[in-house]
Amino acid sequence: MVSLILFWVIFSLLVGLYYTRKGHSFAYGFFVSLFLSPLLGFLLGLFLEPNIKVIENRALQDRTMRKCPDCAELVKAEAIVCRHCGRALEPLAPEPPKEVKPPSPLEDFFKGKP
Ligand SMILES: [Zn+2]
Repeated sequence: MVSLILFWVIFSLLVGLYYTRKGHSFAYGFFVSLFLSPLLGFLLGLFLEPNIKVIENRALQDRTMRKCPDCAELVKAEAIVCRHCGRALEPLAPEPPKEVKPPSPLEDFFKGKP
């Protein structure tokens, strides 16, 4: 019985994540699944139109996509030519280098250094 409730909640969480990926509210997917059924929540999610605006904004914030200055369509951040209008895009400035942490003595030990 406890495991059934656990599975129910876990699948409800998964449906909530699925809703988030489609640009909808996590809570909406989660509570529909929790109170009706995860399967029903998922099936409802299948028929939900993806919220393109939210998904696009997310991609812009992640810097996985950027807007073409000519046609304002989204293109991949690494693209050098817009796939919608063919405009040449200047390459993105490289991301700031990530902090490099010095190797710990334990790492040296496992790599066989003295
Ligand atoms: Zn374009």
